[in-house]
Amino acid sequence: MARVDLLAASYYNKTQNEAKDRVLSMKKNQIKYRFIRRFLPFLLAGLLLTGSGCAPDSAEHTESAYIMNTLVRITLPADTPAAAYQTVFAEMARLEELFSAQRADSEIARLNQARALSPLDPDTLDLLSASLDYTRLTGGAFNPCMGALTELWGISGETPQVPGADEIDQALALCDPQALFLDGQGAAFQAAGVKLDLGAIAKGYAADRAARVLREQGVTRGVISMGGNVVVLGEKQTGTPWRVGIRDPLGSADEIVGYLQASDLSIVTSGGYERYFEQDGVRYHHILDPATGYPADAGLISVTVVTADGTLADMLSTAVFVLGARQAETLIGQLDEPVQLILIDKQKRITSLGDELCPFTFTAAGGGYHYEG
Ligand code: AMP
Ligand code: MG
Repeated sequence: MARVDLLAASYYNKTQNEAKDRVLSMKKNQIKYRFIRRFLPFLLAGLLLTGSGCAPDSAEHTESAYIMNTLVRITLPADTPAAAYQTVFAEMARLEELFSAQRADSEIARLNQARALSPLDPDTLDLLSASLDYTRLTGGAFNPCMGALTELWGISGETPQVPGADEIDQALALCDPQALFLDGQGAAFQAAGVKLDLGAIAKGYAADRAARVLREQGVTRGVISMGGNVVVLGEKQTGTPWRVGIRDPLGSADEIVGYLQASDLSIVTSGGYERYFEQDGVRYHHILDPATGYPADAGLISVTVVTADGTLADMLSTAVFVLGARQAETLIGQLDEPVQLILIDKQKRITSLGDELCPFTFTAAGGGYHYEG
């Protein structure tokens, strides 16, 4: 475990040094660079959201709500009835009440507590079933049964801390996805202490359901944005694709490295910068490597997945962050669905892998990034 600690330490020291270098080089051409990276999205598009930015104009209207610990923004044609937004928010809130391990009365929390629960809501069964399939598909890099480990680190809580190596080993022993059984009605853990944490996939599922609810109401254009999870329906009212900015993982929340032009796709970004804490000068982020029990360190600092299915995209963004670029390429090569990846590594190289579902425009040359296509 000490080896992993050291790796994590050198990663973050390096990242911090890179950040310092970046500040120095930025000072040289600060005005031009800041103008291009900060204001270009506004000029082009009018809006930049955290994690990803979409671009409404006066033909569109945005409503927001706080669901799943995230500011959810729904942008629809301006003449869409207000009820459409409310129906979508209600559906997302319903899913949060099912899936959130933090809500004591959710199905997932009750299942974690009681070790067995039946019947489960069809959406819970659906998401659990997909999660087990994806665990197999990713060789365990995506693991929905890591509740014991994520609780131990407490990165999403008030008092996160680096656990001892023994504690990590003990928690890892309770992260076995093979302990979870589904019977078409309910679910049960065959081992005590195993707990679900659907944080890597639940938002993608909720965004998919939100898109479905909109389509059922006849809405064919719009954007559902949940920070790092975005679904775009159709095109803008102007007939042009939506622009979705990819956040600069080393910059502030309103800086991007480039943008995608997308229609009828899901776009999800995972990055260590999204949630982390620092201890003794070392940064520890929230995406854990199920093989080590420590924050994943496969050379990537940001992973963006583009594909039609938002649940798949959310799962993949986490799994690819854990696996790294080389294994990610093999993984997406095995999928039936077309998938595009935009990866940013610690050397500030940006690469696009897989299918070309939507064009990516690189805007961050001034920030020391290199786009390798
Ligand atoms: P995301 O932001 O979609 O990459 O999901 C990260 C969240 O998923 C974390 O905050 C944890 O709750 C959970 N998580 C962390 N590592 C993993 C992993 N390897 N597999 C599945 N869930 C994870
Ligand atoms: Mg994810």
